[in-house]
Order: sequence, then structure tokens, then C-alpha cells
Amino acid sequence: MPKGDSERTIAECSNCGNTYAAEEWSGGAIQPIGAKNGCPGCGSTEFQVIEDTSAIDFHED
Ligand SMILES: [Zn+2]
Repeated sequence: MPKGDSERTIAECSNCGNTYAAEEWSGGAIQPIGAKNGCPGCGSTEFQVIEDTSAIDFHED
């Protein structure tokens, strides 16, 4: 688990395009919340932050 500050954001899987609630750490790491082992849909560990979250409707537990 990275140490330091993190910021809640939305990340998109670079492979399949699924979006997840995520944390962006100060070091630049993107950690989807509840998906520590990678994308639940395809297993990819490559994610990119979505800058504009206004059009995304996601459910957060
Ligand atoms: Zn994926």
C-alpha cells in the first residue's frame, strides 16, 4: 500500500474502458478502490485518470 496523500478520482481501464472509483496517490500511482489486483473485468493493471467526471454516473459503496 502506498504511503502519503491520495485523492479520490475516477479511473478508466486502459484495456477495456471500464471506469472505477479510484485513489490517485501523490507518487502518481492509480489504485482503483476494491480492485487491488487489477481490473475486475479484464485483469489489466493499467489505468488512467478521467479528468472530467461530470458525465460519469457510478455507484460507490
Ligand atoms: Zn479492464
